[in-house]
Amino acid sequence: MRRVYLDHTATTPVDPAVVEAMRPFFSGRFGNASSIHHFGREARAALDESRDTLAGRIGAQSGEIFFVSGGTEADNFALKGAAMTMLGRGKNHIITGRSEHHAILETCGFLEQHGFVVTYLPVDEFGRTSVCDVRDAIRAETGLISIMHANNEVGTINPVADIARVAKESGVVMHSDAVQSFGKIPVDVDALGVDLLSLSAHKIYGPKGIGALYIRRGVAIERFIHGGGQERGRRAGTENVPLAVGFAEAALLVHRRLEADQKRLGELKERLRSELRERFPWILFNGDPAVALPHILNVSFDSRRIGIDGEALLFNLDLAGIAVTSGSACTSGSMEPSHVLLAMGRDADTAKATIRFSTGHSTTDDDIVYTVGVLTDIVRRLGKVLC
Ligand code: PLP
Repeated sequence: MRRVYLDHTATTPVDPAVVEAMRPFFSGRFGNASSIHHFGREARAALDESRDTLAGRIGAQSGEIFFVSGGTEADNFALKGAAMTMLGRGKNHIITGRSEHHAILETCGFLEQHGFVVTYLPVDEFGRTSVCDVRDAIRAETGLISIMHANNEVGTINPVADIARVAKESGVVMHSDAVQSFGKIPVDVDALGVDLLSLSAHKIYGPKGIGALYIRRGVAIERFIHGGGQERGRRAGTENVPLAVGFAEAALLVHRRLEADQKRLGELKERLRSELRERFPWILFNGDPAVALPHILNVSFDSRRIGIDGEALLFNLDLAGIAVTSGSACTSGSMEPSHVLLAMGRDADTAKATIRFSTGHSTTDDDIVYTVGVLTDIVRRLGKVLC
């Protein structure tokens, strides 16, 4: 059966060169990076080199990279670590956006239960947070701003550099979740002006279970996991050397082909967009058409014009071998429309009739043609045209 994987935003296959780079560190070069003998020093050298490589991809210093278990942990570390430090400075207010990832929103919810006050800024029709809204929300008690670099559902890129400038003027720590943008568009911590930045390996053809938090030198942030002195005492636990090596190798590889991928995936996206527009007059495109990641195309079927169930769409696409994500998430057994699409102003029924296509290294022109053909058949069978 033909299989077309159009869900690279959820995760990516590990690049074979990444598997090869990691392999020796599972067995022959298995040492604990904290041991001082030969085996330990060998592991430490690989870890240091991986840290250097990763730092170089985002314009950071090696000592500013802290390995963690993934994007979720990087977000938790950034928010909880900064929040603990804020308390010591008599601050308790955090600013974030309504279209952030659950790793941010749930952490903010947790912090609210512990006395912090969180402002959830609205987003515009494209899912973008406004610099002016951030400026207006800052108060004397504000200690942290967290606004994602690019949205994982619709791909819209936020004006993080402008927001960071506003944060700096007010002496507020600036965090950005760059889990989806890293490796897809240039990410440079100085150009963005951020103090904290979250990264994850499995979105860039690296292994699952590893990510990193960038912490700008001099930014005070409380340690996250207590134990041994690993990761300069801020995130204890024996370092996962194979995965760190894999993360660094993946980062090297995606950055080598970044420009070419941006162009190729951008062209595939435009092809998909125009084919869909031609076939389905009532299709709505979610996210900024211009200032967005090159590999995500998020579309909804307008509920005022066609009745179609998003889950049925997804299920039928899967039956035909096509893997995509819908615009809803399963919460307590029922399908809830995406909080991002609702924040952008889509009604719940339209939000539920949504598909996110995300392309990657393996995607071909032919995959796009096949997908549009299959989707056309499915919509013809399942859709109830209203007007
Ligand atoms: N932040 C964003 C924007 C994401 O898209 C994701 C994963 O989808 C995460 C954080 C969580 O990353 P991880 O899966 O590495 O925990």
